[in-house]
Amino acid sequence: MTKTYDVVVAGSGNAALCAALAAREAGASVLVLEKAPESQRGGNSFFTAGGFRFAHQGLEDLRRDVLPDISEEEARAMVVPPYTANQFYDDLMRVTEGRSDIDMAEFLVQRSRPTIVWMRGQGIRWILMFARQSYQVEGKHHFWGGLNVEAVGGGPGLVEMLLDRAAKAGIDVRYGHGAWRLHTDSAAAVTGVVARAAGGFVEIPARAVILACGGFEANPEWRTRYLGPNWDLARVRGTRHNTGEGIKMALDIGAQSYGHWSSCHAVQWDMNAPPQGRRHVPEALLPAGHHGQPGRSALRGRGRGLP
Ligand SMILES: Cc1cc2nc3c(=O)[nH]c(=O)nc-3n(C[C@H](O)[C@H](O)[C@H](O)COP(=O)(O)OP(=O)(O)OC[C@H]3O[C@@H](n4cnc5c(N)ncnc54)[C@H](O)[C@@H]3O)c2cc1C
Repeated sequence: MTKTYDVVVAGSGNAALCAALAAREAGASVLVLEKAPESQRGGNSFFTAGGFRFAHQGLEDLRRDVLPDISEEEARAMVVPPYTANQFYDDLMRVTEGRSDIDMAEFLVQRSRPTIVWMRGQGIRWILMFARQSYQVEGKHHFWGGLNVEAVGGGPGLVEMLLDRAAKAGIDVRYGHGAWRLHTDSAAAVTGVVARAAGGFVEIPARAVILACGGFEANPEWRTRYLGPNWDLARVRGTRHNTGEGIKMALDIGAQSYGHWSSCHAVQWDMNAPPQGRRHVPEALLPAGHHGQPGRSALRGRGRGLP
């Protein structure tokens, strides 16, 4: 007989694995379904630098429970200014041109530091972002921009640490299993999920299903449908597996459509310039579609964002 899981999580990126670990911590039996083969696991989270933006009060605050390994001597050679909840919130509103959902933005900001500490408790090791986010003045590393901490090993390191933890916690993972359709009962409660695998469709009963399987950035047809003409020509620089099934499955059982469907976070460059003269535009600061043609953009996902 097929096992009924308390929680089935679709995806194996940072969102999915954190959700899976939190559910397991609360005592649930958990199955992670990953559409990609094992060699392509981790979604866009794998492709990141592993940089995490969160509110904190500067170096001494970080040394308490995020970066406790920094010695006194090392600390004397660093300057990490506070990044307050207000700064984080203002940055979110600035890059989204005021379109962020106020309640969700508040929640994200207020829960950002506790989440980093929780992740450390789950075995994620953090390090300051020396290479990207600091410059040296008179022998001291000065950190800037509010984005100061990354996972050891960047995105690949983050995914590996999360999956290691998942294995130790007894979470089952099935690769090559793409969540395809949700089952509901007569009261519209979710009772399971159908996964698409190499051998056909697999029915998995579950008490809850968490959809953490990305946006539709790797689906040229949906990009054109929602972002506009020529977005089918954009190049995806992250995973090829985020093609919108999670969103479709939720809409199919009556979930409310929400968010800004016609925007995305993209980077753009001038393809005609010689390599040494190519213009890289700061990703987090420009609205999609600003400068250049959509076909010269590289997509990171739906919704603009600060790393
Ligand atoms: C090049 C690049 C650099 C970035 N750098 C940073 C950074 O440094 N810091 C930062 O905060 N953000 C960064 N981002 C953004 C960041 O990657 C995303 O915001 C974040 O990874 C989203 O995590 P996620 O778990 O929601 O999705 P993902 O990590 O994309 O995970 C989605 C998972 O779902 C799987 N999946 C898809 N469909 C199905 C299905 N039907 N069934 C089962 N599984 C499915 C995918 O294979 C994938 O494993 C970057 C993005 C890119 C592309």
